Parts: sequence; C-alpha cells; structure tokens
Amino acid sequence: MCGIFGIENHPDAAHLTYLSLFALQHRGQESAGIASVLNGQMNSHTGMGIAAEVFSEKRIEKLSGTSAIGHVRYSTTGSSHIKNAQPLVSKTRHGVLALGHNGNLTNASEIRKNLEARGAIFHSSTDSESILHLLAHSSGDFDEALLEALKKVEGAYSLVILTRDQMIACRDPYGFRPLVLGKLGDSYVVSSETTALSLIKASYIREIEPGEILFIRQGKLKSVKISPRPNFSRCVFELVYFSRPDSVVFGKSVQAVRQELGRFLALEMKEVKADLVMPVPDSGVPAALGFSRESKIPFEVGLVRSHYISRTFIRPSQALREVAVDLKLSPVSEALKGKKVILIDDSIVRGTTSRKIARSLREAGAREIHMGITSPPIVSACYYGIDTPKSEALIANQRELDEIRDFIGVDSLHYLSLEAMLKAAGGTGFCDACFTKKYPIKTPDEVLNFQKAVP
Ligand code: AMP
Repeated sequence: MCGIFGIENHPDAAHLTYLSLFALQHRGQESAGIASVLNGQMNSHTGMGIAAEVFSEKRIEKLSGTSAIGHVRYSTTGSSHIKNAQPLVSKTRHGVLALGHNGNLTNASEIRKNLEARGAIFHSSTDSESILHLLAHSSGDFDEALLEALKKVEGAYSLVILTRDQMIACRDPYGFRPLVLGKLGDSYVVSSETTALSLIKASYIREIEPGEILFIRQGKLKSVKISPRPNFSRCVFELVYFSRPDSVVFGKSVQAVRQELGRFLALEMKEVKADLVMPVPDSGVPAALGFSRESKIPFEVGLVRSHYISRTFIRPSQALREVAVDLKLSPVSEALKGKKVILIDDSIVRGTTSRKIARSLREAGAREIHMGITSPPIVSACYYGIDTPKSEALIANQRELDEIRDFIGVDSLHYLSLEAMLKAAGGTGFCDACFTKKYPIKTPDEVLNFQKAVP
C-alpha cells in the first residue's frame, strides 16, 4: 500500500511530483518523499506523515530539478520509521540512485540473508532495499544490472527509479500493483494511478505492462521485458477498495467497476426489501449508486464522513483505529429513523468498523440493517502489498456467515459472489488470493519470516 510517481525531463519536476503525492495520498499516509536530479546532482527529502506535513514550498524549491520521483508509504514490510521512508537513496557503482517501491517481495528475506552473508550492510528494514543491493552487486552497465537484479526478485513490485541521467519505471511480471505511463508536453510521467496524471493535466498513454522495464531518458523510451509472461495476477482489491474511483486502473474505470459491483450485488440481494440504500462513505458510494439504480431502491446519505480524519486502517495501532471510526463517520438520524436500510461497503476485514457503524445506525433509529459487501469474504492474508497481514485477524477466517452477521449486529449480511466480483472487474487475470487462498506465487511464508526477522 504505497503510491509512486515520477516525471522525466520537466523544468518543474519536483513541484509536479509534490502535487501528485496529494492525488496518491490515499495509498499511504505514514511517510512521503521526493528525490530529484538537477545537472546530474541528486537531492532528496523524506519525512513522516502526509505530503502536506512533510513538504513546505521552501523544501520543494531546494529539490528543484529536471526529473523527480515521489513516494507515499504505508508500511507492509518494515516498521513505520523514517529510515524506511522512500525514495530510498543510495550511492552505488552506477552513481547515486533513488528508488520508490509499491508492493511486497516474497523472497526478500532470502535475498537479504544472501546479501548480508556477502557483506552487504542494510540501512532500512524494507524489502525494497534488497533491490538496490542486488543492483549494486549485479554485473554490466546499469540497464543490464537492473534486468539481472529484477530477475532475482519475486513478488509484487511497481517501481520507479531515478538515476543521474534517466528515470526507470517497471512492473513485476504478474502485474500485481498498478503503474501507468502518461505524458505532459514532451515529458513522460509515471504514476500508480491516473488520478495524479489528471491533476497535473498529463495525458494517459497506457499501463506499464506487467514484466516491462521502461527506461526513460531525455524524453525517449526504451522498453525491455523482464521474463516470459506468466499469467497476469492484477490485484482485484485495487478495483474493489484501494484505488481512487476517478482513476483508470488496469485499463478500467474504478468508478465504473464499483458501480457494476453494486449492480451485481443488487441482483444477488433481490429478496431483501428495504426503504433505502446507503453507502459507507467514501469507498461504498459508487457501489451503492449501482445497487440503487439496479434495485430501484432510493439512494440515501445516512452517514456523513469527516474529511479531517484519515482512513481508519491507515492508522496502524488498534487503539487509534477504534476511536477513529467514531470520529470519522456519523449517522444522519433524519434519514434513518424507522427505516429498513441496505448498507453497502466494499469489504469486511476485522469486522470492527462494520460493527461500530451498525451500532451507531441503530442508535440513530434504523429499524433494520441489511449489509451488502461488494466482495467475497476476505479469508487470507495478502503477501503482495495490501495490508491484511494476519489470517488470524480476519473475521471471515474465524467465523461462519451467521456468526459474522451476529458479531456485526445486522439483520442480514450478504457478500458478493467471487464470480460476480471478477466479472465486474473484467474477467480473468486477477489475483484473488485474499478471497480464495489461491496464491499465484508459492512462498508467502517468506514475507512473514521477513517481518518477524526484521523489527
Ligand atoms: P472492518 O469492519 O473493521 O472489517 O473494516 C472494514 C472497512 O475497512 C471497510 O470499510 C473497508 O473499506 C476498509 N478496508 C478494507 N480493507 C482495508 C485495508 N487493507 N486497509 C484499510 N482499510 C480497509
């Protein structure tokens, strides 16, 4: 759960990168960073918190350059600490390099052990640093060394790398995490999501292909393939929950997919009679609209979200999470009193948020609450970059449907079927392991070992 961005060959590179971090902020709020290059000289700044807290106008001015990359981080490996903030900057035999990574490597602990045995000294506890070390240890010129390094890493990575004279964007052969290419005038731009392109008025060209390394130098592109194509495993949860609805992700409008998810859910919940359909804001909004259009049950705003509280999960401690739900969402009793309500959300993870919401809707006067979830039960951890780390913490891994319904405190609970979710997302080529336990890469334990081994 991170966001990456890069722009090559633009006089205002750092400033545009700074703006883009606002558009990608939903992808991580623990730390933010920018690295830029001016006349072969690299400058960077990282800090804890959101982009607006980390950067001032003065800071941005000091980063002025003709190419820049940026990163917002939510830690999925390595602790929430400034030394893990990205872009990671390192001096290597290829000169100074900066790297921003979104995803989790599944063989990171093995790579790290091997490199440390050969004398490598790691500065952070992130899996991302392994890529820099592999790069430094690989033979040939930079382009060859990068290819050699990437052939050794497994798992999920969308990367943006800045060197003194070029910018590189690449995506793992499975295509777990998104990454797109855009253009602003003569400058190429890469971003986790198209919303950052729209913000800076860049046009969207295409996805960086799964398994593609794109070398961008002085406005010219060179595309190299990492390895023969495996089956694509794009993260379906990006479309269900994580990405912004105004983005195009994996070639699909996120908003349109979510409306379709809601429509399919309405078809599967035909027997439920209600006075109104309401979303858990913000992520449930497009789906509730799709549901309402299909079912002809009126759409209503029954919960108001405070925009001054960040996403509940993005605060990593349980204590903070608990309070944050009440601070973030408050019910509109006028809309709810005496009503039979269909409540739409994208997913249930631990069940704690949904339970609190259900309780507050009842306190506000809702007569019946029927909960509709636009994805199947999450039963297994993600090892590829979404923060659902421990299977034990997932309510659907521990309890049956009626137990979950009772725990949350709703009159009925309906999960969208796997088939309908995949159909709405576009069919095949997705990773759905958190719903099915079918992991496209075999060694997920490695990530857990890595997390245990590195504090
Ligand atoms: P809960 O009821 O505690 O399981 O929380 C469910 C809420 O968390 C839903 O509103 C989801 O939109 C949201 N959610 C699902 N997955 C994640 C995630 N990986 N990180 C942050 N929030 C999430």
